[in-house]
Amino acid sequence: MPEYYNDVSHMYQEPAKELKNGKFQCPVCGAEYATRSGVFKHMQKQDCAPASLMFEGTITEDVAHSLFCDTVGHYSKHQRKSLSSFRKSKHYRGVLQATLHCMNNKIDSVLFMEWIRMSKKPRYYNHLMSLAVKDSTLVDFRNHLIKNEELIDSSYFFERNEEQILKSDSFLIRSLQRGDIGLDYCMNHKDIDLMSRIDGMCEANRIHLLSVVKVKEG
Ligand SMILES: [Zn+2]
Repeated sequence: MPEYYNDVSHMYQEPAKELKNGKFQCPVCGAEYATRSGVFKHMQKQDCAPASLMFEGTITEDVAHSLFCDTVGHYSKHQRKSLSSFRKSKHYRGVLQATLHCMNNKIDSVLFMEWIRMSKKPRYYNHLMSLAVKDSTLVDFRNHLIKNEELIDSSYFFERNEEQILKSDSFLIRSLQRGDIGLDYCMNHKDIDLMSRIDGMCEANRIHLLSVVKVKEG
């Protein structure tokens, strides 16, 4: 079973080093602290391990690597793309973070990056990756999907979530807001039949639906 993260907790079982200058050093990243409690607090977070150790051999790294291969060429013509060059590259952490963000929000990372590149025109690759993890970028992207329904694979989403789509108004509305399924698709689909469901909807759902219609009509 492939993992999303590697367990790095064992690295934090080593005690902090006491240095000759009286400071305390994290054994994982080498950061120095004036007090024992300072280094203790830092180590408790367990987030300073190198990204390559956190992700080496995981499914997240696999997805990030293919995203890197698909996108880096727009910014750096001579970047080598093998897995080992990727691991050593200064973009490794940023691409991993962007990949996790896409996975958590269930969006198509290739489509997302392409849209950021064309619409926000970042000048550098690391700027592209930092835009990709901003909340406002995600909101703009979802609105872009709602306006351009042909980009959404509505039937794919319907096949995988049929029961919930047919049973739950709020699931359906949330999916429309996220750009997981298209508005026209739902209006014209004989089983979803969105039009006939509107009357039975609670006020809150109707307001959310109206906001989707507004975005779509621009
Ligand atoms: Zn550390």
